[in-house]
Amino acid sequence: MNNPRKIPQIIEPQVTIEGAGVRLLRSFGPKVSNLFDPFLLFDHFAFNDPLEGPIRGFPYHPHRGIETVTYMLEGSTAHRDSLGNEGLIGPGDVQWMSSGRGILHEEMPRRGESGNIYGFQLWVNLPSHLKMSEPRYQEVNASTIPTFEKDGVKIRVVAGTVDGVSGPVEDISASPLYLDVELAPASVWRFPIPSGHSALAYVFHGEGVFDDQTVNATHMLKFSDDGDHLEVKTENDSVRFMLIAGAPFKEPIVPYGPFVMNTLEEIQDTLKELRNGTFIK
Ligand code: FE
Repeated sequence: MNNPRKIPQIIEPQVTIEGAGVRLLRSFGPKVSNLFDPFLLFDHFAFNDPLEGPIRGFPYHPHRGIETVTYMLEGSTAHRDSLGNEGLIGPGDVQWMSSGRGILHEEMPRRGESGNIYGFQLWVNLPSHLKMSEPRYQEVNASTIPTFEKDGVKIRVVAGTVDGVSGPVEDISASPLYLDVELAPASVWRFPIPSGHSALAYVFHGEGVFDDQTVNATHMLKFSDDGDHLEVKTENDSVRFMLIAGAPFKEPIVPYGPFVMNTLEEIQDTLKELRNGTFIK
């Protein structure tokens, strides 16, 4: 590890209204340019003001061609879908949903005891040969997510493997790494990432030095593609961030709302099926 990745891009998350009027912070969404391949979208839900009124959530909507990962830190998300699944994603829990050829679902955030709702949703692309696969879910309880601490660095492994510790979410096409990382003040973390893999860090608490650039919450960092490791340091503050990394699929994408396919024709077919009532098989 002698060539740390640079940070050519720091993204300021934008307030976005989604679902039935939910305010969230979006770092990026699906675009033809596919700059974050294999990742398509990153949203941060942070509701902590009771004056914001009722949380309306995301009533029934379809997805095709993607995987969505919901990670809650405070409050919860109640969900239901067209396959008959129903559940509650609580604090520290993860839900990994592979929409494959199609799913209709409802996602309704709820306040926790603190009155807050705090969580993230990441969209990961599916490769063309799996876009029309059977939909499926992985529900992961907080207690089964491995956490380890070493030299002031605390890591929860949601997906992927760190120091021989593997996260509970498996069989995701992109084989991504998804980590919740916290550095105590005056700590250093160096982490190897294969060259060419996309790597992102979403800083949501405190302040850290990422390859010589001081970055505070709340910002999304995109690392350069070249280099063999990531380097994060802290000074007087602690820092907490989600680390997201994976190998790009390098396939063209055509996004349309909650669908991400490879061609315009596939999007047109999807819309036709929705109209005909044949979207859910
Ligand atoms: Fe959804």
